[in-house]
Amino acid sequence: MLPFNEPIYAEKGIAYIVEAIIKNKRLNGDGPFTARCTQWFNNRLKVKTLLTTSCTHALEMTSLLADIKPGDEVIMPSYTFVSTADAFAIRGAKIKFVDIRKDTMNIDETLIENAITEKTKAIVPVHYAGVGCEMDTICDIAKRHNLFVIEDAAQGMMATYKGKFLGTIGDFGAYSFHETKNYTMGEGGLFLVNRDEYVERSEIIREKGTNRAKFFRGEVDKYSWVDVGSSYLPSEMNAAYLLPQLEMAEEINNQRLKLWNMYYEELKELEDKEKIELPYIPKECEHNAHMFYLKTRDLNERTKLIEYLANNNVKAVFHYVPLHSAIAGRKYGEFVGEDRYTTSESDRLVRLPMYYALKEEDLKYVCGLVKTFFK
Ligand SMILES: *Cc1c(COP(=O)(O)O)cnc(C)c1O
Repeated sequence: MLPFNEPIYAEKGIAYIVEAIIKNKRLNGDGPFTARCTQWFNNRLKVKTLLTTSCTHALEMTSLLADIKPGDEVIMPSYTFVSTADAFAIRGAKIKFVDIRKDTMNIDETLIENAITEKTKAIVPVHYAGVGCEMDTICDIAKRHNLFVIEDAAQGMMATYKGKFLGTIGDFGAYSFHETKNYTMGEGGLFLVNRDEYVERSEIIREKGTNRAKFFRGEVDKYSWVDVGSSYLPSEMNAAYLLPQLEMAEEINNQRLKLWNMYYEELKELEDKEKIELPYIPKECEHNAHMFYLKTRDLNERTKLIEYLANNNVKAVFHYVPLHSAIAGRKYGEFVGEDRYTTSESDRLVRLPMYYALKEEDLKYVCGLVKTFFK
């Protein structure tokens, strides 16, 4: 069976892990490999970053930094992964779900203002498939209403909006290095702090509420418990696995884009015949080929396509079940306004195999099956 995803392995991954264990004798967090990864991100993104144990945890850190309290409201799309909501619901926030745009599957920026109340604390845009949300509009709304903008850029590393890296545009951002993402350390993430006044507290929250980071820089002579926090720093072995991928980040991105464009060109004729819809990339956005999806006519047709591909040894998968329709979604959140596209568009979407090591001949085989199915 052709898998839907295969975690990326960069050649030096094992050697670096061995180096962490045998040479550095350093397995816990914030050792030399974490420092090298962080340096790479800081140089490239031009904001302060901290490696974390997951994107979920990076989002949880933003929830603490924004001082989310029971009764506060946070606005986000319902078409997203559970972590986006979990990070705020865990602090007692009420989640306000807003409809998505049909073209990008991102939050519809024109509907956000309608969901704002005096209890609203933050807007959380999710850059679906590594395609940027309409950030200028979102940041403008946030500014006028004095709200935080927290970017769930889990899928967005290397992608840009108007030339700015996703995750660096709002107040805070979060990347994921889960094995399903473009760059991986198994489980892991990155916290992006785009406002200097939050850097110190970010370090404290990440290190169990201690000023350990300051201590290691020699800024205080002992470290102690100064705030709430948790343990959000990943092991050196995970960082060692990630580093070689960063060293070839451009190459990985280009290869994925090449595969994505190949899918697009192969399947364009089906879109021209109005059999399927293909992804749309706004001109403000450069994406990172995180996923390749197509949309069928309806749920029934999608089920049949997934089945047909599986019968021919290809694993294709649908994506999020809208959060507002889930058990916890009903408990911790509510949909504001009309669900015009969230449910109907998510029902039509199917993702095709997409990963760095995907062979061109396999990709063409998948496209051939899709074309036969629609004949
Ligand atoms: C993958 C993903 C997450 C969660 O990432 P973890 O690193 O597994 O915590 C959150 N949000 C979105 C949109 C994702 O795709």
